[in-house]
Amino acid sequence: MATWQCIKQCGACCHLDPTERPDLEEYLSPEELGLYLSMVGEDGWCVNFDHETRECTIYADRPRFCRVQVDTFQDMFGIEAEELNDFAIDCCHQQIESIYGDRSLEMIRFDQAVGF
Ligand code: SF4
Ligand code: SF4
Repeated sequence: MATWQCIKQCGACCHLDPTERPDLEEYLSPEELGLYLSMVGEDGWCVNFDHETRECTIYADRPRFCRVQVDTFQDMFGIEAEELNDFAIDCCHQQIESIYGDRSLEMIRFDQAVGF
């Protein structure tokens, strides 16, 4: 069985362009939506994303909606604990495909890491 994990040198989910996420209002509170929009840079990437290292520069303090954890996903998407793994893998697949492509090195590395 595939087990979700975040891989280094990816960051696909830090591309926050709201035009590509039309349902933001459905799972973010008004405050969170404001915070989310304030983080979107001109290029559509999160202003906290370091493109050189491909890492989050505020990782320890990143917002709730950036955290893949049971309580957050339950709250935002109505996902139960036992569904989180598959749901998170799907989310990463969608993000990685849209940013880097479905045959990208990032996709290959992700699938290898999670055992997909
Ligand atoms: S898309 Fe998935 S693997 Fe890539 S940085 Fe985001 S959580 Fe990690
Ligand atoms: S705050 Fe960090 S984890 Fe969240 S989108 Fe920005 S760079 Fe990515």
